[in-house]
Amino acid sequence: MKKGLFDPERIIIRLYEVSKHFGETDALVNVTFDVCRNAFFFISGPSGAGKSTLMKLLYLGEPMSSGYAIVDGMNLTRIRRNQVPMLRRRLGIIFQDYRLIPNKSVFDNVGLVLEVAGIRSRKVIRERVMAVLEKVGMAGHYDACPPTLSGGEQQRVAVARAMVGNPSIILADEPTASLDPEAAEIIFDLLVSAHSEGATIVITTHDRYLLSKGCTGIVCLKDGRCVFPDGAGR
Ligand code: ADP
Repeated sequence: MKKGLFDPERIIIRLYEVSKHFGETDALVNVTFDVCRNAFFFISGPSGAGKSTLMKLLYLGEPMSSGYAIVDGMNLTRIRRNQVPMLRRRLGIIFQDYRLIPNKSVFDNVGLVLEVAGIRSRKVIRERVMAVLEKVGMAGHYDACPPTLSGGEQQRVAVARAMVGNPSIILADEPTASLDPEAAEIIFDLLVSAHSEGATIVITTHDRYLLSKGCTGIVCLKDGRCVFPDGAGR
């Protein structure tokens, strides 16, 4: 892949020779791939392969050690500190452990995203939050606190939180790893529906079942290296 050939209309994520070191540990080594707009894209590989680290680099949870990355038109190597919130607004992020705020209601967990994005109208927030909770089947639990919900329900709320800002990309880091097969299927189907509404979906997983469900692009990582470099978002 040549660094110069870049069509932002087609490519939503580009990583070019990206490396990440934690001290002596090479978490990622010269990782290069593209993800096309509206791809349903898997990053697979065994535990310790570097999948979560790769996700963290994409949302700037960690800086890369070297290389070059573009996410939805924003060059992560050159991004200024005051542009980071703009990048994050283009992303919806889902974690294996849900990461909901335990003492806030389901409604507030989801609504916070819109407040942080600067939406002031309570009416607009109410309508958008309830619409997305309806979509994930959690509207009836809008005033519950996360610890009173099952893992599958909490992850549905996390999906609602990721979707409510209409992000261009949803990053899901092992989103079904803590769930039973039935709850996992629901979460996967919700991601499929976000994809059909236009989002680009990037999922890390080592779950063969999930991988068997099909995707439009895949890269496999092993010891921080791409072992399937032909995985550019097809
Ligand atoms: P995966 O998500 O595929 O299980 P990770 O990205 O979590 O893999 O980890 C890749 C490698 O980087 C592992 O060797 C892990 O121990 C190391 N690593 C990840 N995060 C850190 C960190 N914050 N400090 C030190 N080493 C880390």
